[in-house]
Amino acid sequence: MDENKKTPPNSPRFPNVVLLFVAAFSIFLLLQMLWNVFSREEPRQILYSEFVAYLESERVELVIVRPDRLEITLIPEYEPEFESENNQISDLFAWLIPQAPPENVVHTGRMPDPRLREMLDEHNIEYDAPIIPNTMLRNTLLHMGFYVLIIFLMLLFIRRMMGGIIGGKGGIMGFGQSNAKVYMEKKTGVTFDDVAGQEEAKDSLTEIVDFLHNPEKYTAIGATQPKGALLVGPPGTGKTLLAKAVAGEAGVVFFSLSGSDFVEMFVGVGASRVRDLFKQANQQSPCIIFIDEIDAIGRSRDSQVGSNDEREQTLNQLLAEMDGFDSSKGVVILGATNRPEILDKALLRPGRFDRRINVELPDLKGRIEVLTVHAKKVKMSEAVDLRRIAMITPGAAGADLANMINEAALHAVRMKRAQVEQEDLLEAVEVVIAGKEKKDRIMTEKEKRIVAYHEIGHALARTAQKDAKPVEKITIVPRTKGSLGYVLAAPEEEKFMHSKDEMLAEIIVLMAGRAAEEVVFDTKTTGASNDIEKATQMARSMVSMYGMSEKFGMMGLESMQNRYLDGRTVLQVSDQTGAELDAEVRGIIDDCYKKALDLLRENKDKLNNLAEYLFNKETITGEEFMELYNGGGSEASADAALDVII
Ligand code: ADP
Ligand code: ZN
Repeated sequence: MDENKKTPPNSPRFPNVVLLFVAAFSIFLLLQMLWNVFSREEPRQILYSEFVAYLESERVELVIVRPDRLEITLIPEYEPEFESENNQISDLFAWLIPQAPPENVVHTGRMPDPRLREMLDEHNIEYDAPIIPNTMLRNTLLHMGFYVLIIFLMLLFIRRMMGGIIGGKGGIMGFGQSNAKVYMEKKTGVTFDDVAGQEEAKDSLTEIVDFLHNPEKYTAIGATQPKGALLVGPPGTGKTLLAKAVAGEAGVVFFSLSGSDFVEMFVGVGASRVRDLFKQANQQSPCIIFIDEIDAIGRSRDSQVGSNDEREQTLNQLLAEMDGFDSSKGVVILGATNRPEILDKALLRPGRFDRRINVELPDLKGRIEVLTVHAKKVKMSEAVDLRRIAMITPGAAGADLANMINEAALHAVRMKRAQVEQEDLLEAVEVVIAGKEKKDRIMTEKEKRIVAYHEIGHALARTAQKDAKPVEKITIVPRTKGSLGYVLAAPEEEKFMHSKDEMLAEIIVLMAGRAAEEVVFDTKTTGASNDIEKATQMARSMVSMYGMSEKFGMMGLESMQNRYLDGRTVLQVSDQTGAELDAEVRGIIDDCYKKALDLLRENKDKLNNLAEYLFNKETITGEEFMELYNGGGSEASADAALDVII
C-alpha cells in the first residue's frame, strides 16, 4: 500500500555484521584447535631394551620419568643444520600451529625396573619426574566455553531462521525489541492536495494538523486533544495516504506500522514492541503514529474461540500506552481498519481512538478528482476525458483508479505512443476489472457462438426493459480473470438508491444470459455461474434486508457483517424462517428467469441478428448494438458505467 517505505534508521545492521564476523572467527579457531588435537603426532616409541641399549652406548641426554612412560631425549647422531625458529612463538599460540615432535625425543613404556635410577646415575644422565600440573580447572573452563559457544551459535542460527519466518521481511529480530518494522519518515512529502475526493475526512483531520502545529493553543484553554482517530473504510481508499498527509501538513515525523507486525508467536513480544514504539515516538514528538490494519490487534477480546494471550497482551499494552502518554506533547495516533465492527470496545473509548473518520469509496466527483491527481503524474493527451472514465468506474477505490492510470501509461508505451490517450484509459479500465485479453485461448466455434448469444441475451434484456441501464460495449474476447465475454453497461447518472423494480430488472438481465442459451440451443452451460451468484445475492438481500417481499414485509432477516470487505451477511432468524427465506428467494429468481425467457422469445429475431453480428466481430460498441436493435440509426448510451456481466 505504501509506495515509499523507508528503511528504518534504527535497523541493527551494524551489530549483525559484527556478530557474524565474531561467529565466523570463533568457528575458525575451534576447527583449528580440533584439527591440532587430532592430528598431533606422538613421538616415536621404542622398546625398553632399546632404551637400555641407548643408555649403555651413552646416547641418552635426558630422561623424564612420567607416571606411565619414560620420555627420552637422545643425543643426536649429527647436528641439525639449523634450529627451528618456531620455538620462538609464544606458548599462547602454540596450539594454533600443528607441531611435529622433535626427532630426537622418543618414548618407552615404564617397566617396573628397580635398577633404573642406579643405571641412570651410573651413566651420569640427568633425569626428572615432573610435577603433573593440575589442569582440571583449565580443562573444565575450556569445555564449558566450548559448549557455551556451540549453544550460542545454535541460538543465533535458530533466531535467524525464525526471524525469516516470523519477521517476514527477514533480518534478525530482537527478542523484545522492535522488529525494526517501524517505518519512520521525517518528511512524508504528502499533503492534503494529494488526497482527492475525501473532503469530510480531510475536514476532520485538519483539527489534528492544527493541534500538531501549535499544541499550546489548545492546552492554554484547557482543552485536551484527541489522542487518536480511527480511519475506517474499504481497502485502497487512501487511509494510509491521509495519515501521511496529516504528518506532511503538520510537518511532523511519521511512524507507521501494521497491526499484524505486532502479532507474534511468542507471548509478550507484541507488547514490548508497543512499548518500544511509544518510547521512540515520545522521543520524536510531535509526531504521528499510524497503525494500519489495527483490527489485527484490536479485535474484540470476547469474540474469540479460546484465548489468544499474545494478542490480548499486545492490546492491553496498547491501551495502557494510549492512556499513559501525555497528549500535550503532540503525539497523535491514527489507526486504519476496514473491519470496524470487530474492534474491541475498549479501543474506541474516549481518550483512545475516540474519533472515527469514514473514508468511503469515491463518488463520481471523487473519482474524477482522484483521476486528475494521478493523471498529473503521467503525460496525458489534452483530448482525454477523465469524466467519462470516472463514469464507467463506479465502485472503484482510489487505489484502483491510480492503478488504472498506470496501466493506461503502460498500454500507451506498448502502443508506442508518446502520451496517454483515451483508448489507453479505456483498455486499462477493462484490464483492471476483467483482466488482460487472452488472445491465445482457442474456443471452438460452438462455444464462441454460445458465448455470443449469452452476452447478447444480457444486452437485449437490458435494452428492452426501460428500467435497466443501457449498453456500452459487448465483447466475447476472453479475459484473464476468467470471463469469456461481457457486457459493459452504463447508467446516465450514479445511483445511490435502487427501487424494487430496478432490482428486479437487473435480475432479469442477469438471468437473460442463460435464458438465451436455453431459447436458442436448448442447453445449459457453466458460463452462467457468475450471473447466478449475483442474482441470488441480489434477490436474497431484497427479501432479507430491504423489505421488498410481501411475505416478510419490513422484517430484517439478515445483517451485514463486514460491509467494507466482502459484505458477508449473517442470518438472524430461526432455521425455519431461514428455509422460508430461501423459498422466497427461489420464487423471485424463477419469476425473473421466466420473464427473461419470454422477453428473449419475443425478440428472437433481434437475438439471432445481434448474436451472429457479435460472433463475427467479437467486440461491438453500444452504438452498433443500438443500430441493429432498432433496425436503423439511433443514439446509443451517452455515458457508460462499467458494470461487468460475465
Ligand atoms: P488504504 O490505506 O486505504 O488501503 P492507501 O492509502 O494505501 O489505501 O492507497 C493506496 C494508493 O491508492 C495510494 O498510494 C494512492 O496512490 C491511491 N489513492 C487511494 N485513494 C486516493 C485518493 N483519495 N486520492 C489520491 N490517491 C489515492
Ligand atoms: Zn452472463
